[in-house]
Amino acid sequence: MKKLSDATLLPQSGIRRMFDLAKNKENTISFVLGEPDFDTPKNVIKAAQKALEEGQTHYTDNSGILPLRQAIARETKKYDHVAYNPENEILVCTGGMEALYLSMATLLDPGDEVLISDPCYANYYGQISMNHGVPVPVPVYEENGFNFTYEGLSKAVTDKTKAILLNSPCNPTGAVAGREVMEDIARVALEHDLYVVYDAVYKHLLYEGEYVNIASLDGMKNRTIYIDSCSKTYAMTGWRIGYLAGPREIVSLMPKLQENVPSCVTTFAQYGAVEAISNGQESIKQMHDQYAERRKALLECIENIEKISCRPPKGAFYAFINIKKTGLGSEEFAERLLNQQGVVVAPGSAFGEQGEGYIRISYATSVETIRKGMARIQKFVESL
Ligand code: PMP
Repeated sequence: MKKLSDATLLPQSGIRRMFDLAKNKENTISFVLGEPDFDTPKNVIKAAQKALEEGQTHYTDNSGILPLRQAIARETKKYDHVAYNPENEILVCTGGMEALYLSMATLLDPGDEVLISDPCYANYYGQISMNHGVPVPVPVYEENGFNFTYEGLSKAVTDKTKAILLNSPCNPTGAVAGREVMEDIARVALEHDLYVVYDAVYKHLLYEGEYVNIASLDGMKNRTIYIDSCSKTYAMTGWRIGYLAGPREIVSLMPKLQENVPSCVTTFAQYGAVEAISNGQESIKQMHDQYAERRKALLECIENIEKISCRPPKGAFYAFINIKKTGLGSEEFAERLLNQQGVVVAPGSAFGEQGEGYIRISYATSVETIRKGMARIQKFVESL
């Protein structure tokens, strides 16, 4: 039989492995899920139901329905201070995932390098390599709030570098790139003529600092693809609604790629997303306040455990906890914690080499569960 494509060689995710290990165990507490535990707001569900009843069951434009692109343009202008033309600078995608994939498909020729942070969202490796690009991990450090630096990025640039893939607020570290960091990244992009793909799917989950969209900085809009999603902001992970926005020269190439994969995003789900983005402020606030409370509870628990520490994450719903003083590697820590106390966490090494010595905890779960799980983690660490 002839050889299958290299895409089939993608490694299994280190988080999936923890899921598999935990599958048959009883009474476990999971801190591993990367999605809101809230249900989608009722007004959004009603809007999608209404669309279904009104016969919105056909294909849409490859780019998505115009009212949704218009709602995205309004939100991005207000919140990100970047103006996009809904006619040709916005594309509705099947989640942020497809937006990332199409960005890579549009930007990359075989062998092109993309700078990513190490640690980073592990799927970036797949999205880049499935498009024949080369992911180039750039180490980021706890001391710098896990942010890119001008020096770190500049050192990694070669004549093959095409783009910087930036995620802020960041999964897995909770890092937020503030204005200065964004300016440094922009400087590298401008000096070396690089594109920036800016994954902002957690942008509404910000607890400290200022939100800055890198596309709003001088000279950056025409080299940035900005990506957002309804998944985290409106608790809509299963709806699969994401989007991207960028300069017309790039975005206008994408509908034909979209045509060849899903053709368009599920029609009635797009109508739900119009409602979410247009009238979601109250839901965003309610969920944000709960995440903030959970974050506070989690940080209090960590404070009380010797040998582990965590700088307060500024955004998203993840804490990247330093376990170096326990003397265990992150996979060993995660596995032994699961076996001894039934708590599931993601080993930091699942997010890149620099994640070694850390575990990721998702606090998209109740304060009660956080306290219970952290008490078990305390027992585990004290038993070492
Ligand atoms: N980017 C990051 C950093 C994520 O954590 C996720 C979801 N886990 C996504 C993109 C994609 O999310 P979705 O496809 O649900 O929009």
